[in-house]
Amino acid sequence: MNAAAPLSTSSSAHAQAASPHVMNTYGRLPIALSHGQGCRVWDVNGKSYLDALGGIAVNTVGHNHPQLVEALRDQVGKLIHTSNYYHIPLQEALAAKLVELSGLTNAFFCSTGLEANEAALKLARKFGHDKGIERPEIVVYDKAFHGRSIATLSATGNPKVQAGFGPLVEGFIRVPLNDLAALKAATAGNANVVAIFLEAIQGEGGVNPVDTDYLRQLRALCDANDWLLMIDEVQCGMGRTGKWFAHQWADIKPDVMPLAKGLGSGVPIGAVVAGPKAASIFAPGNHGSTFGGNPLAMRAGVETIRIMEEEGLLANAVKVGEHLKAALTRELAGSPGLKDIRGRGLMLGVELTLPCSELVGRAAENGLLISVTAETVIRMVPSLTMTTDEADEVVAILCPLIQQLLKEKA
Ligand SMILES: *Cc1c(COP(=O)(O)O)cnc(C)c1O
Repeated sequence: MNAAAPLSTSSSAHAQAASPHVMNTYGRLPIALSHGQGCRVWDVNGKSYLDALGGIAVNTVGHNHPQLVEALRDQVGKLIHTSNYYHIPLQEALAAKLVELSGLTNAFFCSTGLEANEAALKLARKFGHDKGIERPEIVVYDKAFHGRSIATLSATGNPKVQAGFGPLVEGFIRVPLNDLAALKAATAGNANVVAIFLEAIQGEGGVNPVDTDYLRQLRALCDANDWLLMIDEVQCGMGRTGKWFAHQWADIKPDVMPLAKGLGSGVPIGAVVAGPKAASIFAPGNHGSTFGGNPLAMRAGVETIRIMEEEGLLANAVKVGEHLKAALTRELAGSPGLKDIRGRGLMLGVELTLPCSELVGRAAENGLLISVTAETVIRMVPSLTMTTDEADEVVAILCPLIQQLLKEKA
């Protein structure tokens, strides 16, 4: 690894101090990052970190990827933004690619995950209204995370995300994950149901995979009842699990698929991809976005997918993910406070029996970036370019810290 010298800018020089003018929405580590290369980042003091968080599943092709940087430079010099009042050829290019990879038919572009989910919720409601359902209802899940707008936090299954923001949006029916009987009971005789909405692997909820069989049962149930199956692939999609989209492990297709995070390797971008049942629900005037689909974001999406294909990053996610999971399992086997190691590809969670958020700061002190979600789950969602050597380094730093925490709290 080459230890590049830290860049110095006036805005980063004081980064270790608090940020008195930035709203206090995140519990931040006392670290300010300056630049990166692949899976490694450096802070303003020159300390290096192995990045196993990848900007929360965003930096698909790693930091400072030469091909992505070159493409974005080129695009910035041509057009950053125009308007959806005109045709944007790069939108058509990215939509065609997403259609090819998903087997669906049309895409709408926005800039974030919550916007993609908001579009999905609007599609579901209009799908209902178009067939005479005045008060459409959407099935959502315990521990789900769909974003922080009023509608998407209402769909989210985490009371902490909702606290203080009522009244919540109505029209959601909440059920537990992987329990078909509970779903059937909750929807029995309800003619207002229009859609089922879930993540293929819950991310913020603690890296909780949906059973393959359950996903297939949902597909059948939606077909039988004329409901939309809407799969939030914002975190688990874009190659992270080793398929382009995590639901593809179940060999099914959704009707609506929101995407964001990894789609632009860090350039803000969101998309909702729809199949035949949902592709023509919106007509001019029903939905829109000023920034959505702008040339810079579209170029980032097109180039991210091109790099993923050229470098075989889906296969790499499987290989390095399996290596990492096996090494974690080997190192942590028999630890009394270990509950589970789960996930697929490079979306992995290590669940302990007790809260472990201290590990985030301790790992950073030791040169490793991770997150802890749902209080007890250590989450790793690195760039899909991670190597097996880097995975070994993650394990070498992380496992002793886990062991030590478990010993302290025993
Ligand atoms: C992160 C996330 C969102 C929200 O995305 P934003 O870009 O933060 O709005 C929605 N759904 C899932 C599954 C996510 O992981």
